[in-house]
Amino acid sequence: MNVSPNLLPLSDPGQAPTTGGWRLDHSYAQLPSVFHAPVAPTSVAEPRLVIFNRRLAETLGLEAATLTRPENAAWFAGNSLPPGASPLAQAYAGHQYGRFVMLGDGRALLLGEQLTPHGERFDIQLKGSGPTPFSRRGDGRAALGPMLREYLISEAMHAFGIPTTRSLAVTASGEAVYRDTPLPGAVLTRVAASHLRVGTFEWAAACGEPDAIRVVADYTIQRHYPKLCGEEQPYLALLHAVMHRQASLVARWQGVGFIHGVMNTDNMALSGETIDYGPCAFMDTYQPATVFSSIDHQGRYAYANQPAIAHWNLSRFASTLLPLLHPDADAALALANDALKTFPHTFRAQWLLEMRAKFGLFNEEMDDAELIESLLTCLQEHGADFTNTFRDLSADALPDCPLAGRATFQTWHARWQDRLKRQPQPLEEARGLMRRHNPAFIPRNHKVEEALAAATVQGDLSVLEQLLEVLAHPYDYTSNRPEFSTPRAPSAGIYRTFCGT
Ligand code: AMP
Ligand code: MG
Repeated sequence: MNVSPNLLPLSDPGQAPTTGGWRLDHSYAQLPSVFHAPVAPTSVAEPRLVIFNRRLAETLGLEAATLTRPENAAWFAGNSLPPGASPLAQAYAGHQYGRFVMLGDGRALLLGEQLTPHGERFDIQLKGSGPTPFSRRGDGRAALGPMLREYLISEAMHAFGIPTTRSLAVTASGEAVYRDTPLPGAVLTRVAASHLRVGTFEWAAACGEPDAIRVVADYTIQRHYPKLCGEEQPYLALLHAVMHRQASLVARWQGVGFIHGVMNTDNMALSGETIDYGPCAFMDTYQPATVFSSIDHQGRYAYANQPAIAHWNLSRFASTLLPLLHPDADAALALANDALKTFPHTFRAQWLLEMRAKFGLFNEEMDDAELIESLLTCLQEHGADFTNTFRDLSADALPDCPLAGRATFQTWHARWQDRLKRQPQPLEEARGLMRRHNPAFIPRNHKVEEALAAATVQGDLSVLEQLLEVLAHPYDYTSNRPEFSTPRAPSAGIYRTFCGT
C-alpha cells in the first residue's frame, strides 16, 4: 500500500517574513473541512503581555522587540491577527477517563504554522481565546494561574530535554473568568510540532467521512514521519513509529518523576511531544501510586500506570487505523494486535535506557533491571525523595543522602559500585552521564504554587521568573540553591492539582 496522493509533501512555500518575523503557513487547513472550523477570535478587554519567551521567539524566527511592543499584545489575545494568520479550531475526539467523547478545540485556535529560519514548522495556538463551535458548555476562556503553570512546566520539560509543546507568551485579558470564584483571565500562546492527537484519528474514524482517516494518516506521516512515505506498509509503520515515540516519551517522564495527570487520548500528541499541562506535577518521595489530580479518584493516571495507559491509548489509535492496515478486517486486526503486543517490550527497553543513564551505566548487564528496581524499592520503603536521591548519587554526595545510614541502601550501594567498576568507563565519566540525566532541580510543587500565587494575587512576576531561571538549567550541579531543591514539607498535607479549565 502506498501513501495516497491526498496532499503534496509539505514544503516551505517560501514567502518572505512579514512584520515581526511572522511566516505563517496553513497546511492543516487544507485537510477536509470535517477537521476544522473557522473561528474569529473574540477580543478581550485589555490585552497585556505577562510573560514572553524571547529565546523561543528567536528560534522561531520571530522578532522579540516587535512582538513585545504593548500594542502587539493584541496578537496574543486574539484582539488582532498577526500577519498571515487564518484562525481555526481543530476537531478531535478522545477517550476521557476511558469514555469516548467528540471534543475539538473548545477554547483554543490555531493561528497557523510558523515556518522557522531552520526550515521547521510549528503550530502557533492561542489557548483561552474564546468560544468556538466546539465549546459545548464551556466559556472558551482560561485563567491566568493555569496558563502560567503550563508555561512554567512546559519550559521546564524542555530544559530537561523531554519532547514537549512550548510556551511563547501568556497574555492577561483584563477580564475575569468565572470558575468557583472570579479569576484573572489569560491567553497562552502555545507552540507545538503539531496538535495532531490520537483523538484527531478518533474523530476521523467517527466523523462518517470514508476517506478522513487516510487523509489524516497521510498528513501525519508527511508532517512527523516523512521517512515512512516510501514504506510498503506506511500505516503499519506509522503505528509502530508512534508507539516508539510514546514509549520513549513516557520513559523520560518516569525518569524525572513527571505525572501527566490526564492522559486522555485527546492529550496524546502524535508528534511524541508532551501536551496539555493541566493537573500535572512532579513526584517528591518515590511512591509509584502517586496521583495529584483532584478528580483522578481511581488513580487511573498514577505514576506507575502511565506506561499501561500509553499502551491503552495506543490501542485506541491502532483501532482507528484498521481500515488502512488491510482490506480484510480480521487480517487488519491481527496486524494491529501484533504491533500493539510489542509495546510493553519497547517501553521496557526505553525505560532501561533512561534508567541506565540515571545510574551511570554505559553498557548492559543481565542484572541491571534488578539493580535498578532494588534501589527504587529501597526509596519507596524509606519514603526517600526521588530527585534528590539521584542527585546525591550523581554528585557523589553520599553523606547528604538521607538513605546513607540504611543497611539495605548500603548493601545496594556496594553492589552498584561494583557494577560501575565492571564497565570500561572511569567513575568520573559515569558521574558525568548521571549529571546529564538526573536533574538537580525540578519544579517543586510548593515553589510552583508560590510563584503562581505571587503572579496572580500580588501581580509580582519576579518569583516566577526566578523559578524559570533555575529550571532553565536543571542539570546545573554547580549551583547550590537548597530553597529550590528541598521538597515540600510533608506536614503541608497531600498535594492536589486541578484541571484549571
Ligand atoms: P483539556 O482538559 O484541556 O484537555 O480539555 C478537554 C476538552 O474540553 C477540550 O475539548 C477543550 O477544548 C475543552 N475545554 C476545556 N476548557 C474549556 C473551556 N473553558 N471552554 C470550552 N471548552 C473547554
Ligand atoms: Mg486537552
